[in-house]
Amino acid sequence: MMRTHTCGELRASDAGAQAVVCGWVETVRDHGGVLFVDVRDHTGMVQVVAHPEEAPDAFAVAEKARAEYVLRVHGEVRPRPDGTVNPDLPTGEVEIGVAGIEILARSEPLPFQLDESVVTDEGLRLRYRPLDLRRPRLQHTLRLRARVTAAARAALEAEGFVEVETPTLIRSTPEGARDFVVPSRLSPGEWYALPQSPQLYKQLLMVAGVDRYFQFARCWRDEDLRADRQPEFTQLDLEASFAEEEDVLTWVEAAVAAAFAAAGRGWEIELPLPRMAWQEAIDAYGSDKPDLRAGPAIVDISRVFAATEFNAFASTLEAGGAVRAWRLPRGGDRTRSQLDALVERAQELGAKGLVWMVVEEDGSLRSPVVKFLTEAEQDGIKTALEAEPGDLVLLAADLARLASHVLGQLRVELAAPRGHGADSGVAALWVVDFPLFEEGGDGGPAPAHHPFTHPNVEDLDRLESDPLSVRSRSYDLVANGLELGSGSVRIHTADVQERVFRILGLSEEDIHSRFGFLLDAFRYGVPPHAGFAVGWDRLVMILADEASIREVIAFPKTQTGADPLSGAPAALDAGQLGEVGVMLTPETTVRLTELEERRGRPHG
Ligand code: ASP
Repeated sequence: MMRTHTCGELRASDAGAQAVVCGWVETVRDHGGVLFVDVRDHTGMVQVVAHPEEAPDAFAVAEKARAEYVLRVHGEVRPRPDGTVNPDLPTGEVEIGVAGIEILARSEPLPFQLDESVVTDEGLRLRYRPLDLRRPRLQHTLRLRARVTAAARAALEAEGFVEVETPTLIRSTPEGARDFVVPSRLSPGEWYALPQSPQLYKQLLMVAGVDRYFQFARCWRDEDLRADRQPEFTQLDLEASFAEEEDVLTWVEAAVAAAFAAAGRGWEIELPLPRMAWQEAIDAYGSDKPDLRAGPAIVDISRVFAATEFNAFASTLEAGGAVRAWRLPRGGDRTRSQLDALVERAQELGAKGLVWMVVEEDGSLRSPVVKFLTEAEQDGIKTALEAEPGDLVLLAADLARLASHVLGQLRVELAAPRGHGADSGVAALWVVDFPLFEEGGDGGPAPAHHPFTHPNVEDLDRLESDPLSVRSRSYDLVANGLELGSGSVRIHTADVQERVFRILGLSEEDIHSRFGFLLDAFRYGVPPHAGFAVGWDRLVMILADEASIREVIAFPKTQTGADPLSGAPAALDAGQLGEVGVMLTPETTVRLTELEERRGRPHG
C-alpha cells in the first residue's frame, strides 16, 4: 500500500494514528533546526515535521526536499502544539511527526509559481499545463466538471435516454461553421470532416428506433475563437423520438438542474425556466441571448414623440425608425466626459448618436437635448421608463433593430455583473420562436439554425412567399448572456424538407451529395423527433464561476487555436503528406520555412 491517507483528510480525531501520505512538496521551512514540510495532493495539504534527533535518517532526506519533489512520508499523526494550530487549513489541528521519508521523484525548479495569487501568463500556463493543473483551483474545477457531468448523465438515464457514440471521421455536417478536415491515406484526394455536431447521426439513431439518445459529444468548428469558444468543445447532445418542444425543454431543464445541484454552489435555477420570444429578446434586450441580470429592459418610446418638434427624432420616425430607451438605475452620477464616452461607444457600435438624460433630485431631466422637448414628452419618457431621481436614461433614435442592438450592448457593458453566480445568481431562460432563416451572405435565405429545423406550422403557408418572416420550432437555452445551447423539432416529412432545401437554393446534386444518406434513411419510416445540445464547457464555466472556457478544459487551445503544450498544429514531413496525396502550395512552403527559421529548428 503506497499510502494510508490522503494529505487533506487528517483531522484532530486521527491523532495517535500511524499515517503514510504521498504528495508534492509545497514548502520546506527551517525553524531552529527542525524542518516543517507542507505536503500536498489533490485533497489538500498536511504539515510534516522532521526532527534531527527523533528521526535522523528521515531528517537527512527532508533536508534534500525542494518545492514540488514527490515524497512518501510516514509517521504519527499528532495534535499541533498550543499556539501553532492553523485555523485556515482543514488539517491545521494536526501534523505528522516524521519517522521516515522517501523521495519518490525530484523536480526541477518550476517555470512559474503555482501560488494562486500570482498571475501567470496564460501561454506559459498552457505550455506547462500539467503543472498548472496542480493548482487547487483547477483541480477543483476538473472535479466539479466530472461531478456535474455524472449528474446530468444520471438525470437523462432516469428518463430512458441511452448513451450512444457516433463517429468523428465523417462527411461534413451542416452547422454553419467551417469544418476541420482530415485527409484519407486509403483514398488519397478524399477527405473526412470532423463533426461540427453529431446532428445527422443522432437523427439516424431516431430512424434506428433508439428512441432517446444522448452523448457527451466532442465537436469541432473552425471558427474565430473567443473567450467562450474553442475549436474543439463538448456538447451534451440529445435527441428523442415522438417528442416535441415541451418534452425536450423539460428534459434539458432536468439535466441542467441536476448539474447545478451537483455543483453544490447553492445557486438555484427555478424550474420551469422563463421563456421569451426571439422578437422580444431582440427588441427589449438587443440580443438573442439576453442577460437578464443587467437591469431593466429596453423600451420603445416612439409614441411619446409622435408629434415631436425635435428634428433628430422626428426625421428618424418619419423614415420608419424608432426611438428606444434604456434606464440605468442610479447611473446618473457619471461625469460629463464619461457620458461623452458613452456617446462615442454608441457610435462605434453603429448608432447615429446617443442621447443621455440624468434624472435630477427634483425629478427634472438634465440633458443637452431637453430644451427641444415639451413637458409632455419629458414626462412621457419618465413614465415609460419608470425613471427615478439619480437614474441615467439613454435614448437611441435609429432603425428599430439597430437602436436596440446599441442600447443592448451598452446595457451589458454598463450593468452586467462580471462573474457568473457568486454575487449575481444565474439568470437562465429559453428563447423560443426563432426565425427559420436569416439573410445569408448572398442576400438569400440561410438557415438560422440548421436545415433540418421544422418551420412553425402556423407560418408554413408563407415559406415560399416570405421566408424571412417564418418562425421555426427551435429554442435556445441562455444563461447570464451566454448561449448555452440550442435545438429544435426536426423536419421529418419529405415534402417540407424539400421545400426548405429549395428555398435555401440547394440543387438536387448538393442535397444528394451532402445529406443523401439522411434522406435515404428517412424513406424507411422516420419517427417525428426533436433534440437539443448543451454547450457543456460553457455550462461548466458558469458553474465554476470562470470567465473563460479555457479554465474548465483540461488541455485547451489558445485564442489562435494552438496548443502550446504539444506544439499543435505542426508541419508534417513530405513522406506523411505524400501518403495522403497532399502537396503544399508554394506560399505554404514559404510560410513553413519562415516559421522554422524563427523557431530555429527544422520542421517535420
Ligand atoms: N446540432 C445542433 C447544434 O450543435 C443542436 C441541435 O439542433 O440539436 O447546435
